[in-house]
Amino acid sequence: MRKYATFALVLMLLAQCTTRQTPADLLIKGGTIYTMDAAHPQAEAVAVTGDKIVFAGSAQDAARYAGADTKVIDLQGKTMMPGFIEGHAHLMGIGYNELNLDLMNIKSFEEMIEKVKEAASKAKPGQWIVGRGWHQDKWTVKPDKVVKGFPVHTKLSEVSPNNPVFLWHASGHAAFANAKAMEIAGVSLVTKENIQGKNTEGGEIIRDEMGNPTGLFNEQAMTLVSSHIPQATVETDAQALDLAIKACLRNGITSFHDAGVSRENIDLYHQFKNEGKLSVRMYVMLTGWDRDLIYEWLRKGPEIDSAHILTIRSIKLNCDGALGSRGAWLLEPYTDRPGFSGMATLSMDTVLKTSREALKHGFQVCSHAIGDRANREILDRYETAFRENPSVKDHRFRIEHAQHIDPKDQPRFATLGVIPAMQAIHMSSDRPWAIERLGEKRIREGAYKWQTLLKSGARIVNGTDAPVEPVNPIPCFYAAVTRKTLKGEPEGGYEPEEKMTREQALRSYTLDAAYGAFEENIKGSIEPGKLADFTVFTQDLMTMPESAILKTEVAMTIIGGKVVFSR
Ligand SMILES: [Zn+2]
Repeated sequence: MRKYATFALVLMLLAQCTTRQTPADLLIKGGTIYTMDAAHPQAEAVAVTGDKIVFAGSAQDAARYAGADTKVIDLQGKTMMPGFIEGHAHLMGIGYNELNLDLMNIKSFEEMIEKVKEAASKAKPGQWIVGRGWHQDKWTVKPDKVVKGFPVHTKLSEVSPNNPVFLWHASGHAAFANAKAMEIAGVSLVTKENIQGKNTEGGEIIRDEMGNPTGLFNEQAMTLVSSHIPQATVETDAQALDLAIKACLRNGITSFHDAGVSRENIDLYHQFKNEGKLSVRMYVMLTGWDRDLIYEWLRKGPEIDSAHILTIRSIKLNCDGALGSRGAWLLEPYTDRPGFSGMATLSMDTVLKTSREALKHGFQVCSHAIGDRANREILDRYETAFRENPSVKDHRFRIEHAQHIDPKDQPRFATLGVIPAMQAIHMSSDRPWAIERLGEKRIREGAYKWQTLLKSGARIVNGTDAPVEPVNPIPCFYAAVTRKTLKGEPEGGYEPEEKMTREQALRSYTLDAAYGAFEENIKGSIEPGKLADFTVFTQDLMTMPESAILKTEVAMTIIGGKVVFSR
């Protein structure tokens, strides 16, 4: 016995003398590294082999992983964090936004014309150029000629003679077309308002003093032209997806929770995966609008990807509308519309039925709920379904947005184990006017209750809801820790007691976002055995002054040990 013990000791000592490890493929060092690993919150270096982390710790210990073929990344003082996970957004929407001209920040009519000219030079003959977001009140230089306050199409038609152009106004209630587009639509000097049986009632073709159409179409009249814009095709879908993936990578997003995906787009994602083009890791929620799709998947069961590229195990339900349009379903009437409390957009029976089936078949349910009534009704249905299926211990059902929650319901998230997937950036954008809808008391007691939910034990999944907001996580991180608008207002932030700490904000974008997709064992922190997904920022988000956070940029994105974006 003693002899064997001595022998074992000798073996151990031998092993320690030869602690030189198999060389890693990649060694990252030279910056600040936040790991989200509670036991070792920071590291000096990280070693990667294949697509996984093999070491995180001191630079000295990391040296053991350096071999002749080990690639070394020197962070040059930048900050590396676990790969950022977008917890709720719409990938194809981002893509189509990229595909179309973004005219939101155009400062003059000339600038808009320049953008179209550039797009026309790249477009195939006859290809439509579609844009959105222009607003004449934002233009510091006004066009030479205006009719009824709007520009006329002459210059637009000059820069794009062969490509039809259609540019949606920011309001969505008007649009601007060039001559080619009007020719295709059959709109001319002699056209009467009613063309080819199409009713333009409730709309207007704006005309100059000679009766010529100026290119401006209002309300219903827009459809005269827009109906000729080709629907999304397989090609444009693929183009949009490609652009969306690129947008994610340059914004440091390594994983993406897609909040409601159609059958066609699931096919496209599979195709991209098979072709090795799905370079951001996808976690897909099936769109609840397509009941056939849901039942089909319930029958066949979830698709959990062992390569962690495309996982489908979740169902998205849309249970109310938005606060801006007073579509959010409230317990009490809107402060600025007495007698009206919004409404459900889906029967609560469907929520209950879907929840039951999902629990039985291994799916997660993610229900969109903005208003306090919607949140309560969904928690009720979830609770019933959980009670009926006690064998399912780890359901991780979510409520998407969870924006306004009655104080009575706030603790229920933690108690029931329901995950609030909240987009901090929405507070920045909406809080200034949300108070008109909800009034002082409801805002204070129930709106954007991040710290209350965290303290109660809930885990928050963060995100941007892109393309509603840009997919860039930095403004969202800023909103989470400051509760200010992106202009830095108000001083001290709205309801400052509900701010997240920087550690909590980082967690909501990494480890807890991974938890929201059952992936915390493989993602969300920098620990040996986990996927080598990292986001590198130009500045240290954890220590820099609050006022400088918005100036931070993504310096590098690494997925599965491969640099997929570098500034
Ligand atoms: Zn959404």
